Amino acid sequence: MTTVSGLTQHKLDMSALQDWRSRLRGKLVLLGDAEYETQRRVWNGAIDRYPATIARCANAVDVVRALHFARAHNLLVAVRGGGHSVPGHSVCDDGMVIDLSLMKGIVVDPEARTVRVQGGVLLGELNAATQPLGLAVNSGIVSHTGVAGLTLGGGLGWIQRKYGLTIDHLLSVELVTASGERVMASAEENADLFWGVRGGGGNFGIVTEFEFRLSAVGPSVFAGPIYWPGEDAPELLRFYRAWIADCPDELMTIVVQRRAPNLPGVPTDLVGRHIIAVVACYAGPVDEGERVLRPLKSFGRAVLDLCQPQPYLAHQSMFDPGFQHGWWYYFRACHVNGLTDEMIDIMAERGRAIVSPITTVALWQLGGAIARVRDEDTAFSGRGASFAFNINGNAYSADGFDFEREWARGYWSALAPFHAGVYVNFLMEEGEERVRQAYGAAKYDRLKALKRRYDPDNIFRLNQNIRPR
Ligand SMILES: Cc1cc2nc3c(=O)[nH]c(=O)nc-3n(C[C@H](O)[C@H](O)[C@H](O)COP(=O)(O)OP(=O)(O)OC[C@H]3O[C@@H](n4cnc5c(N)ncnc54)[C@H](O)[C@@H]3O)c2cc1C
Repeated sequence: MTTVSGLTQHKLDMSALQDWRSRLRGKLVLLGDAEYETQRRVWNGAIDRYPATIARCANAVDVVRALHFARAHNLLVAVRGGGHSVPGHSVCDDGMVIDLSLMKGIVVDPEARTVRVQGGVLLGELNAATQPLGLAVNSGIVSHTGVAGLTLGGGLGWIQRKYGLTIDHLLSVELVTASGERVMASAEENADLFWGVRGGGGNFGIVTEFEFRLSAVGPSVFAGPIYWPGEDAPELLRFYRAWIADCPDELMTIVVQRRAPNLPGVPTDLVGRHIIAVVACYAGPVDEGERVLRPLKSFGRAVLDLCQPQPYLAHQSMFDPGFQHGWWYYFRACHVNGLTDEMIDIMAERGRAIVSPITTVALWQLGGAIARVRDEDTAFSGRGASFAFNINGNAYSADGFDFEREWARGYWSALAPFHAGVYVNFLMEEGEERVRQAYGAAKYDRLKALKRRYDPDNIFRLNQNIRPR
């Protein structure tokens, strides 16, 4: 046994390592390699871990071999798609990162309206491949997020109310189980596993390929943000509540609270001021979207209106500059049912107290097609909720981060009387009870039984973990 790193003190068998390295189609990165520093980093700068090995897999065979090596050497396993796990589940100290970011294959079948996507593809790459055909999979709102982690948790996005969650577009997956077996899962094959991967996160295996159904949207949509002064939050939210009550499923909105960012299109005298915005996307004809959004656009005294016809691809990446790699991020989240006057008061008060220029609150509108799938049909839970809160306390670096984190916790705690579940992909490291709450007791028990079947030794435990025992 030879010490690979004095820092991690992790002991690996170097001859076995060299043998494995020679058979890997991708690349093995070890501490001391030029790439190590960039490859150990994940999106959230607050996460700072030193794995013993990073297996940059080129294909499913590499994934199987990496997993066998990790198991044979008792290495903790972290699985990385896009690296956007906010609690940092896709990197670990000492163990092995099985990194799929080199696996970028995307094959669109325009006739069948399906797309096959490998495990390292990012949302922007997927959308860029399907949008020339005016097609899309529902996917998240920041284009550098990974398809893999987002899909396995459920997948919220701009066309969810019309076409459902990302998992509602999922037709099949190819995955490597904890025993190193390559299996398919779909409604017809290993249906129990297919149920579990649609919301159960990375608990059941490493997905090397996803197959999605595509939906018609774009290439142009009526979409974008409208800003009001932060102090107008109570009136704006009351109007918004009434206005969305009977809106069509094509309309998807996110209410955002923050300080106005320093971005192109934002007037300099507005930058830094507290604002409340409604960001909309209409998944239907552009002129219809303009008509549906007219009442919102003419409400009150908006200070900026960038809601207009634009490419769906541009809209999909509009949040990118606000969520850059390496900044420090902390999330608190909950589902809520309805938007009561008390909640509006909490939002107004807490929004006024935002300090950091990059701290944000997003209130996601749910309903529509999401709620038309029965909750028991997939592991994802909370389809009946009306909104999902994601409260971010963010800072550029460690400086001021503790304050932002406490602010986010305070906002979330103030909403406690209204909590109605939570989206697993918005959880931090919050313990088993919170994971149970995310799924509900009955579904959590079903997931546990599935975990016992597919990963009894809990090899895949760096995730929102469903403990087999
Ligand atoms: C900036 C930002 C924006 C976001 N926006 C949205 C959004 O719009 N909608 C939404 O629903 N969520 C959103 N999220 C949450 C997001 O869905 C999760 O953070 C998700 O885990 C990110 O996936 P990833 O592949 O990038 O992350 P990674 O960190 O690579 O993976 C996260 C976890 O997923 C599992 N995993 C990853 N790849 C695989 C694989 N191939 N096989 C098996 N398990 C795997 C592992 O357990 C891993 O720990 C956002 C997060 C961030 C940071």
